[in-house]
Amino acid sequence: MVAHIPTMLAMIIASSLMMAASMAVVGWGRRRDGLGHWAAALLVNALGHLLLMLRGQVPDVLSIVVGNLLLSSVFVGMIAAIYQFQGRPIRWLLLFMPPALVTAFVTVFMDNFPARVGFVGAVIGLQAVWALATALERRHATVGRGQWLLVAGLALEAVVLLGRSALAVTVQGAEEGILRSSGLQTLTFVATFSVVLVSSVGFVFMSRDRADESNRVMAALDPLTGVANRRSLIAALDRDVARAVRMREPMALMMVDIDHFKDVNDHYGHPAGDQVLCSVVQVLRQRVRAQDLVGRYGGEEFMVVLPDTHLAGAEQLARELCKAVEVSRCRVDGLDGEGIAVTVSIGVFGGRLESGDSWDMLIAAADRALYQAKENGRNRVEVATGLRRPSSQLAAQANPETQPTSSY
Ligand code: GH3
Ligand code: MG
Ligand code: MG
Repeated sequence: MVAHIPTMLAMIIASSLMMAASMAVVGWGRRRDGLGHWAAALLVNALGHLLLMLRGQVPDVLSIVVGNLLLSSVFVGMIAAIYQFQGRPIRWLLLFMPPALVTAFVTVFMDNFPARVGFVGAVIGLQAVWALATALERRHATVGRGQWLLVAGLALEAVVLLGRSALAVTVQGAEEGILRSSGLQTLTFVATFSVVLVSSVGFVFMSRDRADESNRVMAALDPLTGVANRRSLIAALDRDVARAVRMREPMALMMVDIDHFKDVNDHYGHPAGDQVLCSVVQVLRQRVRAQDLVGRYGGEEFMVVLPDTHLAGAEQLARELCKAVEVSRCRVDGLDGEGIAVTVSIGVFGGRLESGDSWDMLIAAADRALYQAKENGRNRVEVATGLRRPSSQLAAQANPETQPTSSY
């Protein structure tokens, strides 16, 4: 299919302007997302294509030199937008090198259309590769599918422009004029559409994907200590209990409570208390296995979920944690000396679970043991003797025929 090129150019101009306006509206006041730079790039794209469309009706220096300068500057804006989105400094001087090269080349080779197409196509194609590589850098990659749309549009542009450039310099007569309808020209402008539409939509979605991800993280983590919050702790515990019942594996749970923490706040102040909480979390996290989960259950109370762990192992770990907190010193800003010393009391539940056991029964058991540890003098570990199962569950276990068939 060969399209009518002036119509295609008009559509590119219209869609670039509409997309630029839409992105400016969406990105208004959200500087760090880079949407402003991207919108500016689309505006430049519209102007560049307008000058191409006016080839023959305006002086060549405008249509050829300024037109190509603008088309190459589109990627300056887009790469700058990606840098800004990623929170990196924008190296404008480096970004403007390709447009400077393009301007110099087309000024010298104004009358040599194939050479111009070959050179400009190669430079803009490489700029698209630059944008691609920037977007795909692993440490800046975003989760979500917006990034893939961005990449898809840029990849098509890069392949088409580099391919066209290679054709222009190797095949005689491959290029006859910018406004002549040909399959190659049609494909070139389809690739431009893919950047204007697909990559732009992808870039907008990247902001949304990042916001979604940060909301997901914020909803799962305790903002002060950075460990799992109560909600995600319970979700993980629920999952692990179901698995332990299904696989007939043991599991353990610890409730850890800082002793006399109110005195720390009263004596050193609330901000110092906050730092002590973070410091205790560090001590706990450093000593558990990768599959264990440390979280903040509330206030100065923490929970450690230990999948596939017997009571004896959990009890030993609890004693180690208790000792480790006791010997550690919490460094606090503005406080000279050795730091603040605190101790913890730990209640431990561990063992095999049975069908019908639930996460709240494990928490209740570990909590009872914690209460016992406080009663017995603090800075110590106590273990729960077992779960308190409702009588209906015990009866069902005694007579398996009455067990619900749907359980696990
Ligand atoms: P016990 O040994 O019986 O556990 O005594 P305690 O003082 O640790 O227990 P209590 O429940 O009386 O006090 C808990 C204190 O924890 C009271 C509350 O102000 C403090 N706390 C809860 N959340 C935070 C927090 O986020 N930051 C700070 N600094 N303190 C907190
Ligand atoms: Mg306490
Ligand atoms: Mg408490």
